[in-house]
This record gives sequence, structure tokens and C-alpha cells, in this order.
Amino acid sequence: MLMYEIMTPGPTAVAENVRMARSRECTNPDLDPQFYEFYRDTCRMFSELVRTENETLILGGEGILGLEAACASLTEAGDRVLVLDNGVFGKGFQDFVSMYGGDAVLYTTDYRKPIDPAALQTYLEQDSDFKYATVVHCDTPSGMCNDVAAICPLLKSYGILTVVDSVSAMFGEQMDADDFQIDVLLGGSQKAISAPPGLTLVTLSQDARSAMKNRKTPIASFYANLLTFEDYYENQWFPYTMPVSDICGLRAALENIRREPDIVARHQKIAARVRRALTSCGLKLYQEDGFCGTVTVFEVPKPAQAADILDKMKTEHNILIAGSFDVMAGQVIRIGHMGENCREEKVRRTLAALDRVLADLGVLMKGRTAEIF
Ligand SMILES: *Cc1c(COP(=O)(O)O)cnc(C)c1O
Repeated sequence: MLMYEIMTPGPTAVAENVRMARSRECTNPDLDPQFYEFYRDTCRMFSELVRTENETLILGGEGILGLEAACASLTEAGDRVLVLDNGVFGKGFQDFVSMYGGDAVLYTTDYRKPIDPAALQTYLEQDSDFKYATVVHCDTPSGMCNDVAAICPLLKSYGILTVVDSVSAMFGEQMDADDFQIDVLLGGSQKAISAPPGLTLVTLSQDARSAMKNRKTPIASFYANLLTFEDYYENQWFPYTMPVSDICGLRAALENIRREPDIVARHQKIAARVRRALTSCGLKLYQEDGFCGTVTVFEVPKPAQAADILDKMKTEHNILIAGSFDVMAGQVIRIGHMGENCREEKVRRTLAALDRVLADLGVLMKGRTAEIF
């Protein structure tokens, strides 16, 4: 396989000790009692790292599985669900809600700004009859960071359950899941956790669990049914065979995070330096506000084309950065500085390559981003 440096907002670079952990001898996870201990300890470690007393489940499947599982498990036909939409993933929750028979009500705001809790409160005063709400912490295609610390307690004060997609934010942004009153928190292995793709992490509050248990109709899925894990430890029974090696890698990645209490600060500092370097040289960030510690998104500068920037970064500098999709396709470039990507020398190398690529494509810059960084 070609070894590109992957400076993308997921999947991210994987540390050597995580790769080594994945090569350990395998067991039969269904029958080995020690695996149940290992799985539960790993879940507990994650709960601690995102500061919640709630139970964590590790699901065998990429981050998207968590989004679907939350909606599948909570939604009954006709349930009204508030979908906070200021980005592509935010809006995307509408599909999962309606797929399971729910009535998705979009609360759409400017994609260049974070959701304003005061404006949301004004909205909720008129209409708050929702079973749950979905909110994306970092909407990766635009790099939008929403203030879940303010939004979730507000929703809860109206009796609305909170489902938070923090897949690409957690560990690059502060996450105090209990303080933030998050009922269902969703994470994925391949963003700031910096394990390979393949796993979803879900935490469930008592309120969320009760809502799932008190449904009148059964959950219309097996794989996406979060209740199938009930009492897995007591019964020594998983609903499906757990991917042992993936979980060994995840465990090592979580241990790396636990060894670095300042991981959020590392992300915040690098992110601020990247933004300053880009804007000082005349590049324009996509967002006006609500910047995220894990990804920086800037507009494609004239006269360059997004595809040419990405192609030259890849073929001439061996570095993968990302474009975007949906409404942002072709408009922006994304540098993922999350997890193991978020290292000074990697970011500087990326910026130095970007400086050369943009110069080659005829972009007039006010300086070199790598120097300012
Ligand atoms: C990456 C990501 C996911 C998960 O997507 P996958 O394609 O399954 O990895 C979910 N939400 C957000 C905001 C993400 O950035």
C-alpha cells in the first residue's frame, strides 16, 4: 500500500502501539470470559474519558452505525424529533429519523455559524414537543463546532432527550457528557481517537434507556438495536461476534488518551495556529465563528480548483488532505488536525506543501503559512 501522510479529518494516523495491539493473538470473544472483562473495562475507560457515569457500548461498525442505532432505538412511528441542522451531518439525521418512522422537524440555521442557544430557546418556547433532539458537536464537512455544553441542558430543560454526534469532536473539544446532560453520546474509532475505522462508541443515559424500553412497538432492527446489549456481561452473551482486534487497538488508543490529560489543549493550540497561519496569508475560513479544534476548513482560493489542490498535495507531496461534499463540494479544503495528525511537525509539513501547491496554481498569498504557523 502507498504510504501517504493522512492529514484528513478521519480516518487519522494510527500510533504504532495501537497497530501493535491489533496484532495480538485473537480469542473467541463469545466464549472467553476474559474478553467480557476486557470489553467492559474498555467501555468503562471510555465513559471515564468523556466524563460520564453512563454505560458505554462498543459496537462493531463505523461511526455511522452509532447515528443509525440511536435513531433506530429511540424512534417510533409518529415521534416528533428535533433535528438541529447547521451542517451536512446535522441535516443528515433527518434521514435516520424518517427511515424509522419518525417525524423529523428541521431547525435550520446558517451553516457558517454555530447554533445560537438563545435563538434555540426562543424556538423551543413556541414548540418543544419532541421526544429527542439530534445535534452534531463538530460538523466535519464544514468544521462547525456547536456549543453542546449550552444546547443540551437547554433541550433537557424542555424534557427533550439529547443525542450528540461528537464523532469528530471528542478529545479535540471538551467533553463532559454528564455535565452537558447528554443522553446518547456517539463517538467513532477513526477520528481523534486515532484507531483505525471500524468501531462506534455509544453512551446511554437512564432516560435514553427508559425511552427505548418503554416503546409501544419493537425496535425495527437487530444490528442497530442498542437494547440487544442489555445484560451482556451478566449473561456472557454478545448480540454478535465482537471484532477482537479492533477492540484491542481501541483499548491501546484510549490508554494513549488517558496518558495525555492535556489532549484537548494540544488540539486547541494547533487549531488556533493553523487558522492564524491561513488567514494571515489571505486565505478565507469557511466559518465565521464556531471553529473546531479538530479540523480547519478554508475556501478554495482563486484561481485554483479544489481537485487540483488535492491532487498536487497527494502526487507531489504525498499528503492527503480533503475536499468536502454535499453543499460544500468543490468549495472548500479541509485539513484534519485530530488525534495523531495533531502534531506540530506534521501540520507544519502539510502547510509547507500547501504553500508550494497554491503558489504553483497561481494563488497570490501574503506570506507562507508554514512560517507563520
Ligand atoms: C466521521 C463522522 C461520522 C462517522 O462517519 P463514518 O463514515 O461512519 O466514519 C459521523 N459523524 C461525523 C460528524 C463524522 O465526522
